[in-house]
Amino acid sequence: MSHTPDTFVYPLDQHPAESMVIHCADPRFQVPIRRFVTESLGVKNYLPIIRGGGVHALGAKGYAPREFDTLWHQVTFMLDLFKLPEVIIFGHEDCRWYQNHAEHYHGVDPATKCKTDLPMVALMLSEAYPTMTIRLFWAGIEGENVRFEKVTFE
Ligand SMILES: [Zn+2]
Repeated sequence: MSHTPDTFVYPLDQHPAESMVIHCADPRFQVPIRRFVTESLGVKNYLPIIRGGGVHALGAKGYAPREFDTLWHQVTFMLDLFKLPEVIIFGHEDCRWYQNHAEHYHGVDPATKCKTDLPMVALMLSEAYPTMTIRLFWAGIEGENVRFEKVTFE
């Protein structure tokens, strides 16, 4: 493909997105999560929602209603627009975003809050989208690796 020194060309991804994947912006986890989703879960293409804390804002309606509304609107807009049948949500160990908002958790430690937000958000989504497949994963740090564990709900 032709390019000038200031122009670069890459092919569009032609696979339709099969899932929405929501996770934190923490740079330590971007490549491991993408690899896990594509290599282990076999999802060829997905729509990523990447923000501080992943779904954090969806568990913060009480003290951060605007952040809740913004993320909920983004998630539902994209699910509807691309008619996605599945949402995959990650929480992770040592989340700085969750730690930074700990004053709102009424004494619950940030890792526990992060872990318990996953099934809570899954139930919220399944109420809005009864046929949606929802998968939850916890990304733990093991030495120099990330270990993914399925989180159950309902
Ligand atoms: Zn994080």
